[in-house]
Amino acid sequence: MDFEIKTRGKELFLALSTVTLILMMVITTVLWWFVSPRLHEISELLAKLSLTALRIFYFVLVFGTVFVYLTSYFERNFLIARFAVRSFIRILYPITVFLGRIFGISKERLRESFVYLNNSFIKAIKKRFDSHEILILLPHCLQCTECGIRITVDIHKCQQCGKCDIGELTKLAKKYNIPLAIATGGTLARKIIVVHKPKFIIAVACDRDLVDGLREVFPIPVYGVLNERPEGPCVNTKVEVKKIDLALESLLSKS
Ligand code: SF4
Repeated sequence: MDFEIKTRGKELFLALSTVTLILMMVITTVLWWFVSPRLHEISELLAKLSLTALRIFYFVLVFGTVFVYLTSYFERNFLIARFAVRSFIRILYPITVFLGRIFGISKERLRESFVYLNNSFIKAIKKRFDSHEILILLPHCLQCTECGIRITVDIHKCQQCGKCDIGELTKLAKKYNIPLAIATGGTLARKIIVVHKPKFIIAVACDRDLVDGLREVFPIPVYGVLNERPEGPCVNTKVEVKKIDLALESLLSKS
């Protein structure tokens, strides 16, 4: 992608997940070393199989981490990277968050770092999409609390009065002919994705919802845009519409 995406901040998650990986390898090796005499007593085959399983596990994780680094820093979409990134996210993410808690790193900082890391993978995608292949997913908290219009049912009912960013976003969706939807929760977001079958998603949300969504819809690429919360979480949140405009300009096929 040739538009500016903020990825500074990804280093925190990358560094902590690498520490997680090393710790996991040390702990499992020590555990195996303790139980291996007993395994040898039970069966030589069992001892060999458990050692092989451990080596495969290490290989997958190290391989995944190396490709995560390569994809993130060189912004190149390596053929094998999908598998590597999937293993990395599935296995290392929850343990990294747990380790972060032990080190006193807030969940919010780690999640934001994870979103920046994810967005660095997005930068590695060089292909363009047709407008119907892209979906913009928004959180309900972007809508002004004083607005009585039920935009969750049909966002295009918005009167574009200018009191919240929904108006500008509906204009943007119209300009590029892009499907736009509001998701009031994970279940509805999943439903919307099943209906639209997007090949690329631009999702606006807070760090928690974004990370849950990113992990859930993988391998569909998601450009995660963190919303601003001037009045606190879940109320009258804002988003930099220009960012989404630039992303769409760069993502859409020139026909
Ligand atoms: S821009 Fe749309 S959603 Fe926002 S307050 Fe106005 S009518 Fe309601």
